[in-house]
Amino acid sequence: MRIPERPRVILRHCDAYEPERIRSLVREGLDTLGLKPRGRTLVKPNLVAAGKLFPHAHTRPEFEEGVLLAMQDRGTEISELAVGERCGITLPTRHAYSESGFDRMLARFPGVKRYCFEEAPQVEVRLTHPGRLRDAIFVPEPVARADFFVNTPKFKAHPWTTVTFSLKAYIGLQDDRHRLIDHDHRLGEKIVDLHHVLQAQFIAIDAIIAGQGRMLTPKPFPLNLVILGDAQVAFDAVCCAILGLEPRSVEHIRLAEDAGLGTTDLGRIQISGDVTLEEARARARGFEVGLVRVEKYFEGTKISAYAGPPPEPERTDYCWGGCPGAIEEAIEILRLFDEETDVKMPRLHIVFGAYEGPIDAGPGEKVVFIGDCSRWKGTLHGQDVELPSIYLERNLKDPHHARAEDIYRKMLHVHRQMYAARNAPFVRLEGCPVSVAEQVLALVSLGGLRNPYFDPREVVAFNKAWLSWRARVAWQRTTGTRYQIAGPAQRGGAIPEQGPISA
Ligand code: SF4
Repeated sequence: MRIPERPRVILRHCDAYEPERIRSLVREGLDTLGLKPRGRTLVKPNLVAAGKLFPHAHTRPEFEEGVLLAMQDRGTEISELAVGERCGITLPTRHAYSESGFDRMLARFPGVKRYCFEEAPQVEVRLTHPGRLRDAIFVPEPVARADFFVNTPKFKAHPWTTVTFSLKAYIGLQDDRHRLIDHDHRLGEKIVDLHHVLQAQFIAIDAIIAGQGRMLTPKPFPLNLVILGDAQVAFDAVCCAILGLEPRSVEHIRLAEDAGLGTTDLGRIQISGDVTLEEARARARGFEVGLVRVEKYFEGTKISAYAGPPPEPERTDYCWGGCPGAIEEAIEILRLFDEETDVKMPRLHIVFGAYEGPIDAGPGEKVVFIGDCSRWKGTLHGQDVELPSIYLERNLKDPHHARAEDIYRKMLHVHRQMYAARNAPFVRLEGCPVSVAEQVLALVSLGGLRNPYFDPREVVAFNKAWLSWRARVAWQRTTGTRYQIAGPAQRGGAIPEQGPISA
């Protein structure tokens, strides 16, 4: 499909999660945009985290219900209507579907298929566009084969990327092993690469109650908006404009525009609907975005943070897409599960990148170097320390051989690292990036905090989902279904025309 030359974004007022109201807004949006779902129609929500403690992190099921009803109303040529997602933080997507209320909602749609992307075969898509990070990436088969792709993200702030609207939500297309590749200081380019795999023909964002401040544990911010559109760069540009943000100040939006994936020029975007841009801006006044450097984030707490540049310092002096943002999310998760987190936490020093200054660690205060690229030379507790970088160059990380550790392996791995360093003045957490889950587990160990994965409110549902996920994968292996399939994949109609892609 071709990216529209005159993209359109529609702003609609909606002050309640009423599926019928959302259905009619989405149906009107499809009609205005002249769109008809067809073939394999894949609808992707953002279910990065769900459950009682994460009510504002995800697209609400009532919203998705309205979207699915509208797809059925207008989709006379649909051959398969499906919902697909890979949630975050190493949890099974089954868990996110169940805890978000999506499973209960989907039970009313017996004909709609539910995909947990980490349970589907991962197929190879070759990339040929200029400036790509990689020549090939892997995505779940339903993504590669989609004919009509509907992106239904949540309107939120984000610690890595300032905000997350339509473009950034593509990170939820990949399973853990592939998602973590390039999820570092070049995250913006990774997002652009993913947009050369498939193009959303229709976007409907849940901005009824938006999420401010953070991504996994955002604070609710009623915007009372449903925003609809037919081109992602333009769509994200209008969402930025609502917040008073210059769209090109958001790296992945700027890179997407520069890659020819659409325009951020509001003068070229047709904005319509029953809410004007000015009215939407007035509603968003005071909305808190993300992108706070880690040193500032932990000011006034028992954690002192130090950050030096990641590899390729000529590109950036801070790894916005990797480890530092992950620890901001990790501490917020721990605060949700254990309200004494800040009291229990001992004085800690956390260090990222090639930091060159002093580390002000008093006797008995642990220093934690986070990430493969962290390196430092100096004196700690009277001892000379020289910690080299163990960062592996990007071209040595081949997606064909990528592996992922599930959460129980991660627990074991983090526990071993922390135990081995229990009497040492410092410890290094290895990885690029060190995921939110691993940083949660490390802080649990260092602070003697409650492990969220064993929280009584979560443990039964989590383990049930984890066991059924593992059982499903084991069954597929037994029946000869390969998990990762290299070589040209079968593609659907949502393949973008902009940016040459060979399948
Ligand atoms: S190790 Fe962490 S901080 Fe360093 S480049 Fe990788 S993601 Fe960024």
